[in-house]
Amino acid sequence: MKPPSLRKGKTPRRPAPKKPYNNQKDPVGVYCRVRPLSCDDEECCIEVIHNTTIQLHAPDGLKANRNGEYKETQYSFKKVFGIKTTQMELFEDVSKPLVDDVIHGKNGLLFTYGVTGSGKTYTMTGSAGQGGLLPRSLDMIFNSIGPYQAKRFVFKPDDKNGMEIQNQVDALLERQKRDSQQNVPKTPSSRQRLDPEFADMIRPEEACKADGVDEDSSYSVFVSYIEIYNNYIYDLLEETPVDPLKAKPPQSKILREDQNHNMYVAGCTEVEVKSTDEAFDVFWKGQKKRRIANTQLNRESSRSHSVFIIKLAQAPLDADGDNVLQDKNQVTVSQLCLVDLAGSERTSRTRAEGSRLREAGNINQSLMTLRTCMEVLRENQMCGTNKMVPYRDSKVTHFFKNYFDGEGKVRMIVCVNPKADDYEETLLVMRFAEMTQEVEVARPVDRPICGFAPGRRQRNLAFKDELSRRLEERGGPVDTEIPAALNQLLQSFPPLPPCEISDPSDDQTLPRLIEALERRHRMRQSMIDEYNRTANMLKSMLQEMDGSLMNKENYIHQQQGQLGEKDKCIQDQKSEIDRLEKKAKMLEYKIDILQKTTNIYEEDKRTLQHELESREHRLAREQSEKKRMEARMQGMVYDTKLQWEKECERRVNAKQLEMQNKLWVKDEKLKQLKAIVTESRPENPPARPEKPQRPSREKDRLPAKRSASPSPVPTGAPVRPHHRRSHSAGNERWVDHKPVTNVELDTVMQPNLPNSIKVSTPSEKALSKADKYVLTHQEVASDGEIQTKLIKGEVFKTRSGGQAVQFTDIETLKQENPTASSRKRRSSENQPPQGDGNMQGGWTDVENRCSVAVEMRAGSNLGPGYQHHGYQKRRKP
Ligand code: ADP
Ligand code: MG
Repeated sequence: MKPPSLRKGKTPRRPAPKKPYNNQKDPVGVYCRVRPLSCDDEECCIEVIHNTTIQLHAPDGLKANRNGEYKETQYSFKKVFGIKTTQMELFEDVSKPLVDDVIHGKNGLLFTYGVTGSGKTYTMTGSAGQGGLLPRSLDMIFNSIGPYQAKRFVFKPDDKNGMEIQNQVDALLERQKRDSQQNVPKTPSSRQRLDPEFADMIRPEEACKADGVDEDSSYSVFVSYIEIYNNYIYDLLEETPVDPLKAKPPQSKILREDQNHNMYVAGCTEVEVKSTDEAFDVFWKGQKKRRIANTQLNRESSRSHSVFIIKLAQAPLDADGDNVLQDKNQVTVSQLCLVDLAGSERTSRTRAEGSRLREAGNINQSLMTLRTCMEVLRENQMCGTNKMVPYRDSKVTHFFKNYFDGEGKVRMIVCVNPKADDYEETLLVMRFAEMTQEVEVARPVDRPICGFAPGRRQRNLAFKDELSRRLEERGGPVDTEIPAALNQLLQSFPPLPPCEISDPSDDQTLPRLIEALERRHRMRQSMIDEYNRTANMLKSMLQEMDGSLMNKENYIHQQQGQLGEKDKCIQDQKSEIDRLEKKAKMLEYKIDILQKTTNIYEEDKRTLQHELESREHRLAREQSEKKRMEARMQGMVYDTKLQWEKECERRVNAKQLEMQNKLWVKDEKLKQLKAIVTESRPENPPARPEKPQRPSREKDRLPAKRSASPSPVPTGAPVRPHHRRSHSAGNERWVDHKPVTNVELDTVMQPNLPNSIKVSTPSEKALSKADKYVLTHQEVASDGEIQTKLIKGEVFKTRSGGQAVQFTDIETLKQENPTASSRKRRSSENQPPQGDGNMQGGWTDVENRCSVAVEMRAGSNLGPGYQHHGYQKRRKP
């Protein structure tokens, strides 16, 4: 009926590495369940503030800030379940989607995490009347696949985590063998026979069912139950000899990886179960065994991890919809792992000593490894790194490996007890939960649909129904088993009349028999007709159905081709999206870093600008201050200068006046002396003016020089023209007295004295030959320049026959640096004017030199003051 081209290829049972990579990822779903306090007056340190957030308060006694912890911290989850949450509500949100996935061929992992006493076992297993996630998951599975379950032993696990399909006969034989050995009913008939400890775990009204269950498949459920203690794996469902003498201590199992890279416990018992009760019965046996072992070996159950594995095998029905298709490659196996982890507390709650302490270390170690694995996974996913995840460091993580590396839904329920004693441990639990939420797991892909036309089971059932209905119409009891029905049908014919003929005259028996046989014949004929009609009808019906089936199959084939193309396209696009998403993530990360760097730089820039501005402000302020000060200083200098100039002028004038007065006095004395002298002379000199007079030439010249050189004091010496040797210009004879120490200056104005007698020390001889005398005197002026003075005088013959010089004039030659002069002058401006005594001492070298010349008058009785009129050297104020 089915074209061979439609037969689907191999269907991977579980995600195999060769499969196209699944791009879609989901974060690990982390939920939080807060259990009620044991007694109401206990201190509570957790508050549910939102349906996704809880808040932790540090208990009163604890110094919350000791480790830099805040007094109140908030943690968010996919969902938070408060103390009033029922097991059913929790199941609806957390487990149901996982069970749904399992039924649709996808794997799931669910584990509870928390400190001892936080409600992990309560959540997973529950108690009487309040079944946990485990019984509810089992119940949902059986509610969903119940009618479609395969007969026992049709599916048969191999020892490599694979699943085989046995033929009907082998399965039947195995069933018979089991029944005879165990003498147990196929399924527990009622809940009454169950342990009261877990009776009524699920109320009938709470039963739920998955949607979209593939009716054209056959299903079988297998359960395993293991315990991981001290990093050893124990099979809790292993059959142990009933005889306690033969009992051996439980042997630990090892983990293996199957051909699809899934982890499994080698040699672990997998029990095929057909109902929730049976499955839970198995679980409970394992649980009891665990309890006994823990008691016998003095182990602490809170330190062990328990793993309950629900494995669902499914395979399509054959084309008739009657039996499971005998093709191992068409089997899909999915599993749901329910893990009740050991208490996460750092130390044993009971006093741990010796080997127990070591065990505690190992338990801790496995949870620590779980934490490390999550951290590395998160880092790899967030930063695109490829660090090795240390799954193999503990059995628990090694067992979980394919969930994180392969695909499947992973969910964790963090259980917390709000009591204050647990606060510090709870903080650690919260941190682990926060981190785990950031780990992503590949989303499981949908199981490919089997190539057969859907509705096979229904058609098969309909066919059987129809057949039995028709047979029923014939009358007689009906059985779906055809040979038995026929048998009954035959019996339903009218009985033959007695056909024994004892009397030769009996003419009734034979006709009666004939009649009966004829009736039977007619009936048979009509039945044959009916049968043929029905057969024809069925045949045409079947042909019709076959035709439509063919059409549908062709259509499906077409659609599948298209689907394949689209799938390929989608895959391509998905991988492109994935690549881009990774790139985007990376870029976002980079942007983030750059943003942070920019912020830092901007902050720096702002502070530097701020500083610059404030400095500029300060500078401007200081500059304006300086300007103000300068202006003030200039004002002050100018004022002071003016004041001093005035003062000096005043003093000079006063001094001049005083000197003039003195001169007048001396002149007066001289006049009297002269009078005495002239009285003793024969001829009278012409009357002289009252005041001594300068030669007119000098008079004309002096005012012009006044500004350049200090004005000489009018000579008070008597002028005696008749003693002059010559007065006509050009005929004058000069004694040019230049001391050897003089420096040649390159002033433009140089004295031009033709016909002069040049001497470095004047002698009487030289003077006697000349009528004019000039002394070239150099000194350093107040501004630092060399200043040359030409001190001129007239030579007289004295009565005693000597020579005398009367100074008449001073010329000053001076070179000045135009730029430096003002400054230099200013530097001397502030010198205080010298007092009178100092002025007397101001008689300088000029006067001394001149006095030498004057003293040459041998035997003269006149003091040097007579002809040698020094003048006070004028200083500028
Ligand atoms: P764990 O497995 O984490 O050590 P249990 O599940 O054994 O903790 O819980 C300890 C005790 O608290 C048990 O008696 C259990 O019945 C009770 N308990 C835990 N969670 C709840 C809850 N949500 N509602 C009522 N009782 C709870
Ligand atoms: Mg527990």
